[in-house]
Amino acid sequence: MNFALGFKPPTAAAATAAGSSGPGPGSGSGATMENLEKQLICPVCLEMFSKPVIILPCQHNLCRKCANDIFQSANPLWQSRSAASVAAGSGRFRCPSCRHEVVLDRHGVYGLQRNLLVENIIDIYRQQESSRRVNQQVKLLLCASINGGCCKNK
Ligand SMILES: [Zn+2]
Ligand SMILES: [Zn+2]
Repeated sequence: MNFALGFKPPTAAAATAAGSSGPGPGSGSGATMENLEKQLICPVCLEMFSKPVIILPCQHNLCRKCANDIFQSANPLWQSRSAASVAAGSGRFRCPSCRHEVVLDRHGVYGLQRNLLVENIIDIYRQQESSRRVNQQVKLLLCASINGGCCKNK
């Protein structure tokens, strides 16, 4: 499987807009949300990215814990935070999406840049998802209690 995760580099405008806006009108955006969800799937765990999200030099994104898993299995002798045991001083692993080799310094995956834009998008997406679900439940409850169940087929 080959996930082409093509996020453009974060722009200041998008980052600030993402931080300040509340849940907007979400009706009629089902397809958009589905496409968006595909962009937010980690190629390693195949779930939505879990924070913190890091961005590789090849512009692909990974959960930091997934990047760490790959990195640890590629460099079994490398141990984070114990500089004494790091003889070479660097480790490397390959991007699971494009096989680009990523070279890490002694900070390991903690030295990689976080992708705050993706983290913001995930936050907003989760908010939208939960408010959509709540709205549906509220509608059903109201319907059942007030109208005696107009949502059911008569
Ligand atoms: Zn992951
Ligand atoms: Zn890549």
